[in-house]
Amino acid sequence: MKDILENASSLIRSHEDDIRQNIDKKCSKVSFYKKSVFKKDSAIVAMARDDKQRFILVISEREDGIISEFEGEQIGDAAIARKCPLSEHNAKVLRKHFPWTAPISLRDRKTTVGCGDRLGLATAGHIAAASKYQVTPVLAQQSMRELELTGRTYRNVVDDATFMVFQAGYKDGYGADGDHLKTIPDIDIALAAGMPMITLDLSEVMNAAAGDWSQDEVDAEFEKLDAATQKRIEEDYFGKSFSVGADVIEMDAPTARRCAVMYLGALDFALEVHDHLVSKRGDKFDLEISIDETTSPTLPSHHLFIVKELRLRNVEFTSLAPRFIGEFQKAVDYIGDVEEFDRQFRVHADIAKAFGDYKVSIHSGSDKFMVYPAIGEMTGMRLHLKTAGTSWLEAVRVIAENEPVLYRVMHKCALDNFQEMLKLYHITADINKIPDVDQMADEDLGSLVEMNEARQLLHVTYGPILNDKAIRPLFFDAMHKFEKQYMEKLKGHFDKHLSLLGVPVKA
Ligand SMILES: [Zn+2]
Repeated sequence: MKDILENASSLIRSHEDDIRQNIDKKCSKVSFYKKSVFKKDSAIVAMARDDKQRFILVISEREDGIISEFEGEQIGDAAIARKCPLSEHNAKVLRKHFPWTAPISLRDRKTTVGCGDRLGLATAGHIAAASKYQVTPVLAQQSMRELELTGRTYRNVVDDATFMVFQAGYKDGYGADGDHLKTIPDIDIALAAGMPMITLDLSEVMNAAAGDWSQDEVDAEFEKLDAATQKRIEEDYFGKSFSVGADVIEMDAPTARRCAVMYLGALDFALEVHDHLVSKRGDKFDLEISIDETTSPTLPSHHLFIVKELRLRNVEFTSLAPRFIGEFQKAVDYIGDVEEFDRQFRVHADIAKAFGDYKVSIHSGSDKFMVYPAIGEMTGMRLHLKTAGTSWLEAVRVIAENEPVLYRVMHKCALDNFQEMLKLYHITADINKIPDVDQMADEDLGSLVEMNEARQLLHVTYGPILNDKAIRPLFFDAMHKFEKQYMEKLKGHFDKHLSLLGVPVKA
């Protein structure tokens, strides 16, 4: 780093493009992410890496100004330079001086893709893929369950995205999603971390069980609603039919009563959350309504009822996640009848077009290659595709291909914890089909990440693997070493997702 400092003054006075070209010419131990080299107030701010870690390097002609705002260790003495850790404080400084490193509301973006990053390392790959397409990535996205299992906070998740957005010099805007939140206190944690998108999971406040009740039970519960509400539901829905695209959705009285019993309480809560978001963020938020965590698929009539009731309450929502027919299991392709999926999905897409123009959101959306073309076409690309663990699996692939000893240890940790993790994730993999890793040649280990049973095993056991004290440091060291490879794999993987969906490439 000494060589850079010797030439610091002339470097700082050069044009930004020249600084990018010349900054690490004579430097062997540190390399710079070229797109992150910025000139700001007679200082250079850049993301760099050595063989241990990434950090921000600030070189300045003056002691005051931007350099004084970053925390870090002073290096050299000729120039004023600071090596700054990727800390909460420094993320905040970056967002202040480079506002495009902060997440924004994406309510005006047509096609968005959620890129859950459980490691804080995947954003560079997500950006590399998304940059090519007319899509906006939600780079920071985690559920409470993921935070608990990885030991991170919403603050960490947003900060990690900030650092990599800066690293990539990515200025097109990105989202941050507090995923599957169920209570206002949890929503507040995501909001405090600057997340503009909230995915409101209504599964616990709705009466999903009433979906299976007898009509007598439904009617008895409906009678308990206040008289004015009963009257309004009757007037608005009983015996009405609604044209949706080429279809007509008939709403008979029994269906309307069932919908009222199942959803009205949850929709009142959605209004409460909406008003809370308005009070905290004005109109700079994206509210996603999620009803996908239920056992039975969302019927078109129910989807319609929910949307009409949200509109009646003036709940501005950006996207809605129904539960679709078939299975959207983690890490594997769609399971079910593709033609039936297409038939039903078209109605959901048409409801979204006809009653509010919101994005249809597809949860557990990674790797569902069989149904992507239909999803893209039927929504006219007005959609949100949510992915999470698939980026973790690409990291596992990097380890399997490069660090066979470490991979075997991770694989065994996954097997040891699989039963426990089944309490949290619904998957149907028969893990007995997975070959014994001790009997496999090193060069074959990477192929496991192509095998559905192994994919699901590794997908759901990220928590125990990452929390294993012996594995954790070795894993992150290896990921640092193979950073470029991870980025390339993610780029290819998301390229496959986006091209099959039919997202147009950028002009
Ligand atoms: Zn979901």
